[in-house]
Amino acid sequence: MSKALAIQEAPTLDETRASLHEKLKGIVPGAEIELKAELAFKINRLKAEKNAIILGHNYMEPALYHSVPDHTGDSLALARESAETDADIILFCGVQFMAETAKILNPDKTVLIPSDKAGCSLASGINAANVRDLKRMYPGAPVVTYVNTYASVKAESDYCCTSGNAPGVVRHLLSEGHEQIIFLPDEYLGRNTARELGIGFVLPPLIQGIAPEAVTGPAIIGWRARCEVHEVFSVEDITAVRKQFPDVSIVAHPECHPDVVDASDYSGSTKQMNDYVAATDAGRFLLLTECSMGDNIMAENPEKDMLRLCSSRCPHMNQITMEDTLRALEELRFQVELPRDIIDQARLPIDRMLAIH
Ligand code: SF4
Repeated sequence: MSKALAIQEAPTLDETRASLHEKLKGIVPGAEIELKAELAFKINRLKAEKNAIILGHNYMEPALYHSVPDHTGDSLALARESAETDADIILFCGVQFMAETAKILNPDKTVLIPSDKAGCSLASGINAANVRDLKRMYPGAPVVTYVNTYASVKAESDYCCTSGNAPGVVRHLLSEGHEQIIFLPDEYLGRNTARELGIGFVLPPLIQGIAPEAVTGPAIIGWRARCEVHEVFSVEDITAVRKQFPDVSIVAHPECHPDVVDASDYSGSTKQMNDYVAATDAGRFLLLTECSMGDNIMAENPEKDMLRLCSSRCPHMNQITMEDTLRALEELRFQVELPRDIIDQARLPIDRMLAIH
């Protein structure tokens, strides 16, 4: 499609306004929708002019999520989309490790992220030297790395996974005859995955030079990083909500503590949560995850009633604003750059993740 035609086909300001008012009525005040519609209109025109695509994570604020991304979803779905695009520019409305994954899959494209401050407590909880130490401690054990890690950690790994396919990746390795699997860096996702598969879970010693405890039988060897949003939900929260709203269906992300997952009605990745809410009849739902996700699911399922526990927000996801998304396209900032050897080494574990459902 020619550039002029692509721009012509971008939604007009009136269409953008109408669509946002329709999707966000009852969620975002009308005056704010007006402001966001103008930003969305400019972003969509510029996107067409520059042959860019925008990928929007489920945790983006509702006005952004429902107006500018070409694709929305969890990190696995967006990684798949980034692997297939023929756009010249990929603008990732998500956090740094997600944009890095898009760069690894598209080394010759321009990959942008609207903020250079969108980190992640899980990704910063481990580094490449930690992984090399673990490989020395548990020789022969394959390394499965959650996609919430930086590229240098992925480059030391055998497989990547997301919360959506973590059990599938570990099951695949068990079926290949591996007994111990190093699973990094989220302790709770590791514990929840081990419980789902009925295998053991151990943590490496905290002190360098101390020999690890002997591991017998199939087990996950985990790490101590946590998601700063999901780790704060408690069983007490669930008990209190159930007392007040007996018809509630509670859905927990697998980065929550295993006791929280046990006390919930369902646990799954952000995409799986979305599918569960769409397919389930319940008086109301409570999602134990980043608060914007509840707003976005509510906009997609207006007939469902959603409760919120919004005291814990992700400070990293919240760095991504529509204003900075527009600036990213205007100025082609912030460009994701990675050393070529890291890209080459990190590609294989990501490709393996994409091949396992
Ligand atoms: S919600 Fe948790 S895992 Fe996701 S980006 Fe924020 S800190 Fe990282």
